Amino acid sequence: MTKIHVKSPLVEMDGDEMTRIIWAQIKKTLILPFLDIDLRYYDLGVTCRDQTDDKVTVKAAEAIHEFGVGVKCATITPDQDRIQEYQLKKAWASPNGTIRSILDGTVFRKPIVVKNIVPGVISWKKPIIIGRHAYGDIYKSADFSIPGPGKTELVYTPTNGDEPVRMTVQDFKGPGVLMGMHNTDASIRSFARACITYAISEKVNIWFGAKDTISKHYHSRFKDIFNAEVEARKADLEKAGVTYRYMLIDDAVAQIMKHEGGILWACKNYDGDVMSDMIASGFGSLGMMTSVLVSPDGKFEYEAAHGTVRRHYYEHLKGNPTSTNSVASIFAWTGAIRKRGELDGTPDVMAFADALEQAVITCIESGIVTKDLVNLVSPKPKGYETTDGFLAQVAEHLHVSVG
Ligand code: NAP
Ligand code: MG
Repeated sequence: MTKIHVKSPLVEMDGDEMTRIIWAQIKKTLILPFLDIDLRYYDLGVTCRDQTDDKVTVKAAEAIHEFGVGVKCATITPDQDRIQEYQLKKAWASPNGTIRSILDGTVFRKPIVVKNIVPGVISWKKPIIIGRHAYGDIYKSADFSIPGPGKTELVYTPTNGDEPVRMTVQDFKGPGVLMGMHNTDASIRSFARACITYAISEKVNIWFGAKDTISKHYHSRFKDIFNAEVEARKADLEKAGVTYRYMLIDDAVAQIMKHEGGILWACKNYDGDVMSDMIASGFGSLGMMTSVLVSPDGKFEYEAAHGTVRRHYYEHLKGNPTSTNSVASIFAWTGAIRKRGELDGTPDVMAFADALEQAVITCIESGIVTKDLVNLVSPKPKGYETTDGFLAQVAEHLHVSVG
């Protein structure tokens, strides 16, 4: 069999624990036998990050910036327990956070839809993709408890020496709570641009919801910046057949429950945090949720939305068989490969990504699933596959379809 040649390099980032085990297996059985590909490998496993003082993460992000497309395995974000467990120098920052800030990217989460898993919401037929603005609002706020009566104010002190601006928040008559939060035009603009870039790339319509009727400055700014960015890319959006719709957030929530899906729902930070979990559980399992980081200038990094599946890894280390769902990790690869093919103008590479996704979907739709899906698919399968067993079945289907 002649392998399909991939014109430009793809940045590969290895990771940790169970997903690292799956990663190697996917590469060996589903990617390298079929593709002649230049993988620029960065080991983001926690040991290597520790040894390089996390420089490897920065290098990986720079490589994505250079080559345009990357695929990443799930990684440990160390806490005190992990420092002990892996004998680390310190609690290194989340690699996803580091890469996101270098690329100034927005994360889009998309469920993988199969016929025999019926979503919790019966009208949902196509994926609902959540784009979450991952900067500011309550996640970068000052909040504190007010012990008793007193006046609270917002104060803006301009650096140019102009008079400070003051505004009363509340004249407290008794104890309470207070929070001050912010966002920046630059970050909101990057978010809007990444959403537009993603929607054009995926050919899905955009919804954006906020509460500008109540929040005349804060939420209205989001709405205005989105409108301006949509206006700036009007021609590209029209060419791709992509529409933009602003709604009040409560209207968006009500309408999503009656919608068939196939849209990008752009969410402010908190809404995205909450709604992405609602969408994930509505569509089934964490093992079926993919994630892509898109920068405003069109760089793409694909990964599974779940973590390193630690509990399964400990079973694996004990020598016990595991049944870990590899679908989201496989779709991270196919997403990246398809995008590589699209940017290179190589339809055969894109077709390979389609064939691999189809092999996975065919397996699931014929009842070949891992344990997490057994109670979700109908009719309920008699048993389930091991981690390796599922991958072997996908490989078999792929060999038949690609030859
Ligand atoms: P997790 O890896 O997402 O797994 C939590 C639980 O969800 C698993 O124990 C398993 O449930 C189920 N699950 C998740 N993915 C699955 C899959 N593919 N197949 C089957 N079941 C799946 O979260 P965690 O174990 O709490 O976190 C482990 C590490 O992941 C942490 O160190 C965290 O920092 C890291 N993390 C990384 C990323 C990332 O790199 N993007 C994201 C999140 C977390 P059962 O045990 O019930 O089978
Ligand atoms: Mg959440």
